[in-house]
Amino acid sequence: SAKHAGGQTYRFFEDRMRGEFLVSVQIENDIRQALKAGNQFALHYQPVKRADTKETIGVEALVRWFHPKKGLISPAEFIPVAERTGLIIPLGEWIVRKACQDLYAMRLEGLTLTVAINISTEQMKQPDFVDIIRTIVRTEGVDPSNIQLEITENALMENTAESVAKIDMLRALGFTIAIDDFGTGYSSLSYLKHFKVDSLKIDQSFIRDLPRENADKAIVAATLQLGEKLGITTVAEGVETEASSQYLKESGCSYLQGYHFSKPIPYQELMMYLDREKVKF
Ligand code: C2E
Ligand code: MG
Ligand code: MG
Ligand code: MG
Repeated sequence: SAKHAGGQTYRFFEDRMRGEFLVSVQIENDIRQALKAGNQFALHYQPVKRADTKETIGVEALVRWFHPKKGLISPAEFIPVAERTGLIIPLGEWIVRKACQDLYAMRLEGLTLTVAINISTEQMKQPDFVDIIRTIVRTEGVDPSNIQLEITENALMENTAESVAKIDMLRALGFTIAIDDFGTGYSSLSYLKHFKVDSLKIDQSFIRDLPRENADKAIVAATLQLGEKLGITTVAEGVETEASSQYLKESGCSYLQGYHFSKPIPYQELMMYLDREKVKF
């Protein structure tokens, strides 16, 4: 009967909920362990290219977790748990510090790249976020103007007055600010009136099927025009094909990022990638 089926569905749902709860409690404990162990997290770097010359102008830092038993765990799986449990605060600080240390090493290699760091909404919400990040860059001896902070639209929707003040302070220190996953947040465009940002990163869901999908073409064209009118740069993420790369260049997108050029790679591989590029230029 329908009632019986409903009961089964409910029981199944309950089991699944308990399963997910156990998994997330386990992930939480494992993240805590990993932060103590200190050698399970790493940053990989994905090149960001100029759309016209294809020169690498920067990299995005993306965290990786090598779990001692489970192997590589995707950030899509553990970042949300870290956010729910507050562990994103110590993990986020580790990420910022490590990215600064790698930026310092790049400067020693004579490289002038911008390092983009993903900042979670939970980190942004900390009253002393600006102080924390300022202290890290000072301690590590790097210049904030070589660092771009990637935040999502959702981070800007909460505590608007406080967020505006923080963004202004960060920009005054020399950091640049990018809106990540642009076009996918539960938000209106009105925040662009209140926040001065430096870059829009168009979400990969609009880029993947270019130049085939008409809706994607319309959304991307409108975003590129918005960027141009606001005087801010545009980055397309998720560029997987030569066709979409070409289309975006012709449409006036400033920068491109995606598997077509490179996946996120460890620091040493990035050095080799940049060496090969230097030979080509
Ligand atoms: P995101 O910041 O939007 O990063 C882009 C994601 O797209 C990365 O996934 C990257 O590997 C992937 N990607 C890049 N090019 C392509 C492409 O051409 N095709 C496809 N299919 N994917 C591409 P990843 O590294 O798994 O990270 C996923 C998300 O996890 C990130 O999205 C970001 O929201 C979060 N994340 C990753 N690292 C960090 C971090 O250090 N801190 C914080 N707070 N969040 C992070
Ligand atoms: Mg990002
Ligand atoms: Mg993104
Ligand atoms: Mg994302």
